[in-house]
Amino acid sequence: MELLYSSTRNKEDKITASKAVLQGLAPDGGLYVPERIPAFDKSLEELSKMDYREVAFEVMKLLLTDYTEEELKYCIEHAYDEKFDVEEIAPLAKTKSAFYLELFHGKTIAFKDMALSILPYLMTTAAKKNNVKDEIVILTATSGDTGKAALAGFADVPGTRIVVFYPKNGVSRIQELQMVTQKGANTKVVGINGNFDEAQTGVKKMFSDEAMKKELAGKGFRFSSANSINIGRLVPQVVYYVYAYTRLLAEGEIKDGEAINIVVPTGNFGNILAAFYARAMGLPVAKLVCASNENKVLYDFFKTGVYDRNREFMLTSSPSMDILISSNLERLIYKIAGESADKNNEFMKSLRETGKYEITDDMKKELDVFYGNYASEEETFAKIKSLYDECGYVIDTHTAVAGAVYDKYLKETGDTETKAVIASTASPYKFSRSVMNAIDAGKYDGLDDFDIIDELEKVSNVKIPQAVSELKSAPVLHDTVCDVDKMPEVVMEFLK
Ligand SMILES: *Cc1c(COP(=O)(O)O)cnc(C)c1O
Repeated sequence: MELLYSSTRNKEDKITASKAVLQGLAPDGGLYVPERIPAFDKSLEELSKMDYREVAFEVMKLLLTDYTEEELKYCIEHAYDEKFDVEEIAPLAKTKSAFYLELFHGKTIAFKDMALSILPYLMTTAAKKNNVKDEIVILTATSGDTGKAALAGFADVPGTRIVVFYPKNGVSRIQELQMVTQKGANTKVVGINGNFDEAQTGVKKMFSDEAMKKELAGKGFRFSSANSINIGRLVPQVVYYVYAYTRLLAEGEIKDGEAINIVVPTGNFGNILAAFYARAMGLPVAKLVCASNENKVLYDFFKTGVYDRNREFMLTSSPSMDILISSNLERLIYKIAGESADKNNEFMKSLRETGKYEITDDMKKELDVFYGNYASEEETFAKIKSLYDECGYVIDTHTAVAGAVYDKYLKETGDTETKAVIASTASPYKFSRSVMNAIDAGKYDGLDDFDIIDELEKVSNVKIPQAVSELKSAPVLHDTVCDVDKMPEVVMEFLK
């Protein structure tokens, strides 16, 4: 049965999955959501005998129904290949209290690769299917990891261009180097004088700028988005939660049907929303643990039912989670508002105009499956250190936020029986300085980033990934920096 998508702000306007992938954001500013969440049509037992690509097909075919079997398999096989440095694509690392689901074995060593390796294929396939002849222009705001993963995914893909905006002073040195050394004539990387939220708002403005879109259409261009608002990002993320569960099943760590907890270090709410969808499709999940850093808007939201972005923006050691407006939360709000676009519209209007909104008690009840908490910088570093001391396993700062929050969850609930999968969203090599400081404070202060990386290799016994070693000699190819209000000009200039 065909599954259509509609905007969270207008239920009447229904489109196919491939059109939603092409569009990115809905014309009314809303996010595309499936009109219903389909259930798995294979048992977990059957899925546990499949490899990553096969599980990906089984999950994605249910959510992207207008892609043919050949098209989907073509996309999956080109995305999840030797670009990943392990056969399993997303391996599980077992520690004393949890399983870390390593989502960082792709080209840019962060979990964004899981979706951004396949998005360009989903998008160019969608263009072909829908007879779109225009060149697709990907506009992306990044808090650090999306940018590089999107650049790597789209570089030199025929029929596409990509412009990435990042907060000039809000990403790690390695993250910045990864982006500004990006090759590909169709790529453009721009630092902005502002934070991630401002970059994201700037991009959203261009998406709804009719005059700009019209001018570009005349030149044969159309915008799309590689941000996690695109369902082409969300759908591939559902896959690895299903895959993780079926690995635990295959290895006898859980019984068929046994519920697990899933812990996700959260920023824009895309990754955890994918876990929520996986659960709605039939994955046995007890709690979805939403872990925030000191930008703890979501923790406050789950506690009080009030979403309030009016607060100081904190720069933390987990920059990819330094976010005050979690875009994908809108999809959850829409769902718990009884799939009412009108109600959702009211909340989003309030968010735009006052920076906050409060959900009703009935809606709050629907959030029972979530447990929200946050980790301070100190707690984050302490987690890196304690896990390393316990078993020699080194995690990055984002993953450590999740680990620390999971410890709080255990302490608060005593729920040690339920097995937990913690989404490990970046390689420690992406945040080497913070990680090494956590393990041995002060010891590496005088070292430059690449020396620290060498030290991390010694401490972790994990080989330096190629994505990092090649940065040492890669030439800087992008040096544009602009103010937020100049973002449209930069785009027009690039497309001239
Ligand atoms: C993007 C990112 C996150 C946050 O994921 P969301 O889907 O935005 O919630 C967490 N950790 C890392 C390393 C990331 O790159």
